[in-house]
Amino acid sequence: MALVEISNVHKSFGEVEVLRGIDLTVEKGEIVTIIGRSGSGKSTLLRCINGLEQINGGEIKVAGELVHSRSTDLRKLREHVGIVFQQFNLFPHMTVERNITLAPVLTGKIAQGDAARELARKVLAQVGLEEKIDAYPGQLSGGQQQRVAIARCLAMSPYLMLFDEVTSALDPELVGEVLKVMEDLATQGMTMILVTHEMNFARNVASKLVFMHAGMVHEEGRPADLFANPATPELANFISSVR
Ligand code: ADP
Ligand code: MG
Repeated sequence: MALVEISNVHKSFGEVEVLRGIDLTVEKGEIVTIIGRSGSGKSTLLRCINGLEQINGGEIKVAGELVHSRSTDLRKLREHVGIVFQQFNLFPHMTVERNITLAPVLTGKIAQGDAARELARKVLAQVGLEEKIDAYPGQLSGGQQQRVAIARCLAMSPYLMLFDEVTSALDPELVGEVLKVMEDLATQGMTMILVTHEMNFARNVASKLVFMHAGMVHEEGRPADLFANPATPELANFISSVR
């Protein structure tokens, strides 16, 4: 069974259909990169996968469970399906430790106190920021804040992580450190679906590349194949525009 099974998903905002029959399968341990022009539906698709958006047709299964079913406990699902956005959304008045441990403590996953601090240490080590455990977000660079946001996600022990253009708001010199963290996670076997404009990452780290165009999966395949031999003029144009 694939970890994520998306079949014939349709999604409209009012009159506008932004997802027009999406099919996509993600196996456990796969790194799937989604590329495509602005407005092609990439963020909407990610948001549908963890139930932040309703859908108008088709179905999405994560770990065998239908995301858009009345009987699905979305809060439970989101504990296992982490999402990281372009804007890090850390709480400015809380320390890094508190930002990271808030959700695990509130959901009863872990007790406040030493255990929580230990968890924060562990996930901060995964993003190379143990020394910032007592810092406030305002004392960190954008790249460091985004790494804390990823650590916060890891603290819930997700089995799937969704990344929506997590490096797009960063100064260019800070992009590399965040990509490095995602590459490390990939190496450790985390299943990830990422929307990114970082073509080198898409080319070198992803196991599957998905090109979205006009609300559809226009092409998908091995990154090297798609970059070398785009089958459609839309992908060829996209690749030359981002080079
Ligand atoms: P991408 O991430 O590929 O840039 P999006 O998924 O953000 O694309 O958006 C796809 C289309 O859906 C766009 O035309 C956008 O304006 C529209 N859209 C996205 N979210 C909403 C919303 N909450 N309400 C209305 N329209 C939306
Ligand atoms: Mg987007």
